[in-house]
Amino acid sequence: MMSGRLLAAVAVVGAVVLAIGDQVSGGERLGVVGKQGELSPEETTTSSPPPTTARTFAAPVPTTTVAPPPPAITPVVSNGPRTRPLVALTFDSDMNEAMLRSLNSHRVASYDATPVVDVLQEMKVPATFFLTGMWVERYPETAARIAADPMFEAANHSYSHRSFAQPCYGLPAVPPGEMAADVQRAFDAIRVKVPQVKPYFRFPGGCYNEAALRALAPLGITGIQWDVVGGDPFNQSPDSIVQASLAKAQPGSIIVLHSTFGTAPMTAKALPRIIAGLKAKGLTPVTLSELLNHPAAAKPNPPHAEF
Ligand SMILES: [Zn+2]
Repeated sequence: MMSGRLLAAVAVVGAVVLAIGDQVSGGERLGVVGKQGELSPEETTTSSPPPTTARTFAAPVPTTTVAPPPPAITPVVSNGPRTRPLVALTFDSDMNEAMLRSLNSHRVASYDATPVVDVLQEMKVPATFFLTGMWVERYPETAARIAADPMFEAANHSYSHRSFAQPCYGLPAVPPGEMAADVQRAFDAIRVKVPQVKPYFRFPGGCYNEAALRALAPLGITGIQWDVVGGDPFNQSPDSIVQASLAKAQPGSIIVLHSTFGTAPMTAKALPRIIAGLKAKGLTPVTLSELLNHPAAAKPNPPHAEF
C-alpha cells in the first residue's frame, strides 16, 4: 500500500507527465518503447512497463499552477505532444572503459561527434545531445562547441554508460545504491563544459525499471526514451538509417541516433537526407525542451544533490 504522502507525490508526477503529453492520445502519453525487434542492439529498451503513474493518475490537473514537490518516482517520456508538427533529433554520446581502451590501443580512431555537429550547424538544425560524463572528459572541445551553440541542448546519458536495469545487452550494471551518484557525477562532469545542461536523462540502452526510477527521483530529472529508432549503431548503410529515421517519424517524435563516430560511422552521412525527409513530411526539428514544453525545461540545471 502507498502512504498518503507518497500517493500525493505520485499524483503530482502524473500531473507532470500529463503536462508533457496533455495533447497526446491516451496510450501514447508515456509511449515507452515496446517493439524490441525494431531497436538497435545498442539502444534498446527493456520490456519493463511504463510507470503506472500516468495512466493511474492522469487527472486533469491545471499544470500551470502546480508547484510539484520532489517526485517519488522519475517521470519518463518517449514523445512530445502529437498535435504540433515538431520532432526532436537526439544524439547519444556513449563512452565507457572498453571504448576508452579501444581508443588508446588505436583499434578505433575516434568517438568524437564532430561529423554530426558539422552537419547540424551547416544546416542550422537544432538537436539535443545526451552526453556521458566520460565522453565530455575525452572530448571537451566538442562538448564546449555544443554548449556554445544555442541551437543545441545537452543532457545526461550517465557517467560511464553502465546499465540501470538488468539484463541490458551486456552493459555492466550500476549497483542500485550508486545510481543517483552516477547520474550526479555525470552532471558534474558535463557542467564543466556545458553549464546549462538540461535535467533530462537517457538510460544507457534505454534500460530501466521502477527501482531505478525511484533511485533517481531525488535528482528531479525526467527520463527520456524515444519513439523512433534510427538504427545507426554499427550500421554501414546510410540508406537504412534514413529509412528507419523517417518511416515512423510523426508530430511529437523523439528520434534516437548516435554522435559517436566510431560506433555510428554513417550517421552524419545520413543526416542531410533525414533532415530533408522530415521537412518533406512537414516536421520541424526542435530541441527537446521545445518539443516537450515541459515545466522542467525552464530550469537551467537539475537540483543539486549531495551524495
Ligand atoms: Zn547510449
